[in-house]
Amino acid sequence: MDLKQYITIVEDWPKPGIKFKDITTLMDNGDAYRYATDQIVAYAREKDIDLVVGPEARGFIIGCPVAYSLGVGFAPVRKEGKLPRETVKVNYGLEYGKDVLTIHKDAIKPGQRVLITDDLLATGGTIDATIKLVEQLGGVVAGIAFLIELTYLDGRDKLDGYDILTLMQY
Ligand code: 5GP
Repeated sequence: MDLKQYITIVEDWPKPGIKFKDITTLMDNGDAYRYATDQIVAYAREKDIDLVVGPEARGFIIGCPVAYSLGVGFAPVRKEGKLPRETVKVNYGLEYGKDVLTIHKDAIKPGQRVLITDDLLATGGTIDATIKLVEQLGGVVAGIAFLIELTYLDGRDKLDGYDILTLMQY
């Protein structure tokens, strides 16, 4: 299936000059959403995954159906102040803006093999921060899966040494 036909490119959003890749037109098509999920599940099955971890909010949309299909849990990574119990945190820089990401301190058991998911790899800042959170808790990042990679932003260079799957490249 050619998944790119389900991505809508929105010019000048959220800021002038940005061509935003809108994945909602993939998600609201049952066949496309399932096909994309199944590709990531097939990748994850080879990695012996114990837990899926994804940053809010679109990392949940990708990661939760994958976790369900694998029969493993999902742990959310959220902006500061959103998780109710004790967290660890890391600062990161976005393509546009700066922020802090957090995860519950007890979300990952040392040695657990983790699949990280998000919708899109741009500069790699979000996933670099997510990796740091997983590793702080003793998790092993066994794979990282995205729907989309913006290859011209070289996010892969920041994630050097990690196993990465991307279903579409721009
Ligand atoms: P990075 O941290 O790799 O620079 O940026 C990736 C993060 O920003 C992802 O969590 C993603 O959701 C969001 N993002 C940046 N640009 C886009 C875009 O064009 N489309 C979508 N769907 N998300 C984007």
